Amino acid sequence: MKRVLLFLLLLALLVPAGCAAEPQRYTYTFYGTFDTVITLVGYADSQAQFDEAAALCESEFRRLDALYTPYLHSEAGNNLWSLNNGAWKEPMAVDPDLMGLLVFCRDMQEKYPGAVNVAMGRVLALWHEARLQAEDDPFSAALPDEEALREAALHTDFSCVVLDEEAGTVFYTDPLLRLDLGAVAKGYAAGLVEKKLDGKLVSFCINAGGNIVLHGAPVNSRGTWQIGIQDPNSVLYGDSTTLGTVQKTGGCIVTSGDYQRYYTVDGVRYHHIIDPATLYPASSVRAVSIICADSGTADFLSTTCFILPFEESKALVLSTEGVEALWVLQDGTVVQTQGFGLQH
Ligand code: ADP
Ligand code: MG
Repeated sequence: MKRVLLFLLLLALLVPAGCAAEPQRYTYTFYGTFDTVITLVGYADSQAQFDEAAALCESEFRRLDALYTPYLHSEAGNNLWSLNNGAWKEPMAVDPDLMGLLVFCRDMQEKYPGAVNVAMGRVLALWHEARLQAEDDPFSAALPDEEALREAALHTDFSCVVLDEEAGTVFYTDPLLRLDLGAVAKGYAAGLVEKKLDGKLVSFCINAGGNIVLHGAPVNSRGTWQIGIQDPNSVLYGDSTTLGTVQKTGGCIVTSGDYQRYYTVDGVRYHHIIDPATLYPASSVRAVSIICADSGTADFLSTTCFILPFEESKALVLSTEGVEALWVLQDGTVVQTQGFGLQH
């Protein structure tokens, strides 16, 4: 009898360890930050483990959205709205995560000039207001005033933004300059959230409105994440056909396109990515997807490569280590670098 009991006891001790369940796949979706839908897909040992990570993911995106928005005052302290409303009067103290993004933008703009300029806030605001007005009342849809665009463009010199990293303050030496971090804030934020979630899940994927961060391989039979690359036309016509998929175990994929945010005036579509040279929506390509290790870099480069003429955009990607790209040209032709790996 004792032997049987001992055997049963051993069995009881061994079975849970021997049959430890494989991590399961969980998903959580939330709305209302960065003007988009955000989904976390994660492999975790339990629902409780996933729920804790998902709550952290959502609260971090909410905190960062409040910090990076130019549209709203934040109860939590100085945000981008505060800077645009006061940093031209006196230096203003900011959260390290806002300083970090501003320093990142300064460095990236120095490295990749002529396309993304986050100091174009007033130019972008004119397009933003025109789009909102058109969404409110499509019959009154109009282009921004040409004269107002030209005047706003006189105040877009990023070197007038003084970043004092030691003091943690920001000062605009041009009182008419305004910042808009929309070209990079979502991707940069996704990168910060990835760091917070590191070690809290077995592996995960964050999809912040097309800014995708892959962290560790999924626990499925393929062992890779499968990411669909949208077909610009299919999005416009409301279906979900993709150009193909890429299989990845990590890294970031970010897409900028002319089909997500736009409005129509006299039958012509005007989207939200503005060429600093013309002050009008960029028209070199329909969409660009960038693959690279860092989420903020991928977001900055997707907008940059969307704005630049295709040949310049291609030269930039080919001369940048660790960056792969796919372009959808105006005539629908798809061009990809060798390592992008789109499969049909
Ligand atoms: P999305 O934010 O839709 O994913 P992008 O990352 O390409 O797409 O960023 C588009 C946003 O970038 C616009 O909504 C606007 O706020 C901002 N933006 C557009 N053109 C420029 C530009 N030339 N320089 C800096 N920011 C820009
Ligand atoms: Mg971008």
